[in-house]
Amino acid sequence: MQMVARDLYQLALTPRSGVNAYLVGDVLVDSGYPLHFKRLLGETASRTIHAHALTHAHPDHAGSSKKLKTTLGIPVWVGAGDADALRSGRAEPGEVPFGRAALKSLMKFPGVEPDRELREGDELAAGFVALETPGHSPGHMAFWREEDATLICGDVLFNISFATTAAGLNTPPGLFTPDPAQNRASARRLAALQPKLVLFGHGPPLRDAGALSAFAERLAG
Ligand SMILES: [Zn+2]
Repeated sequence: MQMVARDLYQLALTPRSGVNAYLVGDVLVDSGYPLHFKRLLGETASRTIHAHALTHAHPDHAGSSKKLKTTLGIPVWVGAGDADALRSGRAEPGEVPFGRAALKSLMKFPGVEPDRELREGDELAAGFVALETPGHSPGHMAFWREEDATLICGDVLFNISFATTAAGLNTPPGLFTPDPAQNRASARRLAALQPKLVLFGHGPPLRDAGALSAFAERLAG
């Protein structure tokens, strides 16, 4: 677990920050895949966690959420638009011409009942508030702290290549993004905040507000 800002730690669950979770004050944001459960518990063992929040209900972010809730006895928070997906453990894939059934099975994870539905402006912890950033999922949430311009952007943007794992800004794969145009609008909204530090679901932290704006400007409508 690595401190990246005040009251904020990155938990890189795979090499090269391929899959990340974050500890924000006493709230654990995202939980990786089911296989990451032990690692999450180990890395946060010295901390008291009071709640678990999700950027979105996909298997690589909510995979260990059910076990976290039952093991630690903590509430789970998710964007209102993702509450059904979290409950059922079935997320909507992107639009694909064929292979949709196989893709749907890739999007399954252990479902868990949400205890709080997050909406725009809701407080998370440590000065962060929730921003509704739909597109990659209907209820996708980013978390923003204005005081030091720090942004947890979830999967609105990746800072890693899905194909090569090299660092660099990318939009999330269309296979897993039901509404790419809406996601691009969310990306432009986040870039307009001019964050000094951006933390991604996938990829290493980015401390270059100019790079984010330049990338968002190039995104087609
Ligand atoms: Zn993801």
